[in-house]
Amino acid sequence: MAVAGALIDKTDEQKDITDMVRRFADEQILPNAEHFDHEDEFPEPIVEQMKELGLFGVTIPEEYGGMGLDLTTYAMIVEELSRGWISISGIVNTHFIGSYLLMKFGSDEQKEKYLPPMATGELRAAFSLSEPEMGSDVQALKASARKADEGHYELNGQKMWVTNGLMSGIVFVLVKTDPGAEPRHKGMTCFIAEKEPGVAENSGEYAGFTVPPKIRKLGYKGVESTELVFDGYRCPAENVLGGEEAGVGKGFGQMMDALEVGRVNVAARGVGIAQRALELALRYSQERKTFGKEIAQHQAVQFKLADMATQIEAARLMTMRAARLKDAGERSDLEAGMAKLFASEAGVKCVEDSFRIHGGYGYSKEYEIERLYRDAPLLLIGEGTSEIQRMVIGKKLLQRHKI
Ligand SMILES: Cc1cc2nc3c(=O)[nH]c(=O)nc-3n(C[C@H](O)[C@H](O)[C@H](O)COP(=O)(O)OP(=O)(O)OC[C@H]3O[C@@H](n4cnc5c(N)ncnc54)[C@H](O)[C@@H]3O)c2cc1C
Repeated sequence: MAVAGALIDKTDEQKDITDMVRRFADEQILPNAEHFDHEDEFPEPIVEQMKELGLFGVTIPEEYGGMGLDLTTYAMIVEELSRGWISISGIVNTHFIGSYLLMKFGSDEQKEKYLPPMATGELRAAFSLSEPEMGSDVQALKASARKADEGHYELNGQKMWVTNGLMSGIVFVLVKTDPGAEPRHKGMTCFIAEKEPGVAENSGEYAGFTVPPKIRKLGYKGVESTELVFDGYRCPAENVLGGEEAGVGKGFGQMMDALEVGRVNVAARGVGIAQRALELALRYSQERKTFGKEIAQHQAVQFKLADMATQIEAARLMTMRAARLKDAGERSDLEAGMAKLFASEAGVKCVEDSFRIHGGYGYSKEYEIERLYRDAPLLLIGEGTSEIQRMVIGKKLLQRHKI
């Protein structure tokens, strides 16, 4: 049951591609999500089909084998994938952030090397900021890299919560290269750390790069979240993002830039999951009867449906506005923060309202809303918590309106 969403202007190309992804979600993701979620199993068959559809190369330029589409279209696609299952958008998201980092900051050699296999999904990317003792306060990171010889850096330290940590072939990892730098962010560098996809204990040229067993989670299953342990991992100096000369000490700014587009992506996820929650609520509320009528006919339930649809429409408009500003080359930090804050909170709220409408059945694993209820809270955490978004929004507001 498709509802709403019609207020967003789409080009013919955007309409075609989002229709295609919606069909893919209806036919391939939704019927299989329950299995992969319950088993917490990587959805390999779905990922294989996504490769064929070109979904790993949506924003990668055509010259590197991608579709060359903009952030707005990407956000529309993410909404559709998340409507199916947010874990699927999670498999694409860190890859998208990695390709964004390469397209914006990578050297020509790095683009030539990584973007073509990334466009097909043959090579997939993860990105890694968080550590066991650090998430929001990125400048407090401890993992480090020191120059080992002319051609190599040696990486040491532990990373946490890396989505696609095991199945990825490259990880964009932020570490300290100058522990004494003031301000601290000037001493951070982003490395493109290569490894063997799916291998926990890397050896040979990737020795010293270990992926511990995946973290067991409330929801967002299927896509693995892992720690990463670097213990004397030798990374070629040419794998400093942007090249050694240009990239050393620039990692913090590069990652913060990428998080801005990541926030639009999480906002789109919030819209997608909220949209699905509404669809489920609309259906269930017209099937279930109490006190002699469909529960949808009780005003209290109708008000919930009305609030959900209103929040979804607002969240979608905010997400599209942030994406369009970024595509137009305008500042969108404030708007991306607002979209992420509003859409993720709306996602959680709509899922909870839909859960309430399902009554006791919402608590049963037989009903899809149970999965959404476990998946949605991640929206409040990834790419900066709601508190961090408020800090970003407040700071940007004051910068733009300084008296
Ligand atoms: C499933 C999952 C996948 C993830 N994937 C990735 C990934 O791929 N790569 C990656 O690098 N990270 C990833 N993360 C990590 C995520 O980005 C962090 O969890 C997030 O940034 C919050 O950091 P934290 O968990 O350390 O919380 P903390 O920073 O310890 O915060 C704890 C609480 O304090 C609040 N808080 C912190 N500072 C302030 C402040 N100044 N003012 C007010 N409140 C504050 C926070 O909002 C939060 O409520 C993932 C996390 C999860 C759960």
